Amino acid sequence: MSLFISKKASSISPSPTLAISAKAKSMKAQGIDVIGFGAGEPDFDTPAHIKEAAVKALNEGFTKYTPASGTLALKEAVCRKFKRENNLDYTANQIVVSNGAKHSLVNAFTAICNPRDEVIIPAPFWVSYPEMVKLADGVPVFIETTEENRFKFTVEQLEKAITPKTRALVLNSPSNPTGMLYTKEELSAIAEVVVKNNIYVISDEIYERLIYDGLEHTGIASLGEAVKNLTIIVNGVSKTYSMTGWRIGFTASNAQIAKVMGNVQSHGTSNPNSIAQVAAVAALDGPQQDVEMMKQAFVERRNYMVERINSIAGVSCSKPQGAFYVMMNIKNILGKSFYGKVVTNADEFAEMLLEKANVALVPGAGFGAEGYVRLSYAISMENIKEGLDRIEKFLSVDTQL
Ligand code: PMP
Ligand code: GLU
Repeated sequence: MSLFISKKASSISPSPTLAISAKAKSMKAQGIDVIGFGAGEPDFDTPAHIKEAAVKALNEGFTKYTPASGTLALKEAVCRKFKRENNLDYTANQIVVSNGAKHSLVNAFTAICNPRDEVIIPAPFWVSYPEMVKLADGVPVFIETTEENRFKFTVEQLEKAITPKTRALVLNSPSNPTGMLYTKEELSAIAEVVVKNNIYVISDEIYERLIYDGLEHTGIASLGEAVKNLTIIVNGVSKTYSMTGWRIGFTASNAQIAKVMGNVQSHGTSNPNSIAQVAAVAALDGPQQDVEMMKQAFVERRNYMVERINSIAGVSCSKPQGAFYVMMNIKNILGKSFYGKVVTNADEFAEMLLEKANVALVPGAGFGAEGYVRLSYAISMENIKEGLDRIEKFLSVDTQL
C-alpha cells in the first residue's frame, strides 16, 4: 500500500544551503578535512553579555510560556532598534517575534497569500523564498537579473511582472546570495510602483548591519507612510549577533497583519524560546562593539576572497557590498573536463569539488543562478585561504584553462 503524502508538501525541495552545511559537518565528524564554504553562519561565538543574560534568565526560572508573539520586553527592544537604527516608529502591537527570521517569513507569506496568489521574487534569490511561497499556497514569479546589472532588477521589469494576482514583492538588500545593495534612489522608484499597485513588500533586512565600504542601508519602509504600511520588515538576531542557533527573528508591519501573523503563530509554534527572547533583548539593547568587530573581519575576508577568485583562471566574481557571500561565476569552466569528467553544470562542479578537493560550496541552481556557485566567507581566513588554494589546484587539473 502506498503512503499518501500531500502534493504541496511533496513539491517542497530540501534547503540546499542547510544540506551542504550538514554534509560538510558530517564529513568533518568522520575525520575528513573539509573546508566548508556552504553555511551562511558566522563562525564567531555569541557575545558574552548575551550569553550571560540567558544564563541569568534560566537561573531566575524564566522558563515558561510567554505571549505567543513574543514578550513585551523584546517587542519594545525591537521598537527601540527600529527607531535607533532605521528611524522608524513602530509600537509593540506591530511586532511579532518568531523562531528565527525564516519563521517570520513563513508567517508573512501565510498572512498575505490566498491560493494561486503571486509573489514576485527577483533572482538570484535566497533558496527558501520560493518554497515558502509554495507552502503558503502562493505562486513564486521570478524576475531575472544579470551580473552586468549588479544582479538588480529595474522598475520596468517589476511593472511587467505585476498582474492582478500579485500580492507581494520580496526584497532582500543586502542580498543573499549576491551581496548587492539597493540604493535609496532605486528603492524610492520601487516604492512608487509598490504603492501604485497596492502590493506588499516583504523586506528581508537580516544583513542590514553587514554592509561595507561606507555604504548605507536604506529600508524601503522609511520612504513614506504609504509604503511603510505595505511593508513587512523581516529581521532577526542570527547574523548580526552570531546567534543562529538561538532562533529569534521578528517582523514589523501594520498592526492588522501583525495580528494575523501572531494568530497563525499561536497555533503553529506558540512563543519562541523564552530564554532566547531575553538574550535577544540583551543583544539589541546592549553594547554593539562585537557587531563592529565581526563586520571588520568580514570585510578583510571579502577583500581577500574577491581578489583571489579573480586571480584564478576560469572563474570570477563581482565584489559584494554586504552580507557574507560571494557568487563565483563558473560559466567559463562549464563543458571542460576535470579528472576525466566533463563538468556541465554547477551541481556537478560542486559535487566534484567536494569529492576531489574536500571543498563544500553551494551550487547556484537553488538560488535561481545557473553558472554560479555561492561561497560563504563566514569562515576563518585560514580556512578561506586553504579552500581557495584547493579550488585553484582543482581547476589547474584542466590544461585547457
Ligand atoms: N533571510 C535570509 C536572506 C537568510 O540568509 C537567512 C539565513 N538563514 C534568513 C532569512 C533566516 O535567518 P534565521 O532563520 O536564522 O533568523
Ligand atoms: N541563510 C543561511 C544560508 O543561506 C543559513 C542556511 C539557511 O537557513 O538556509 O546559508
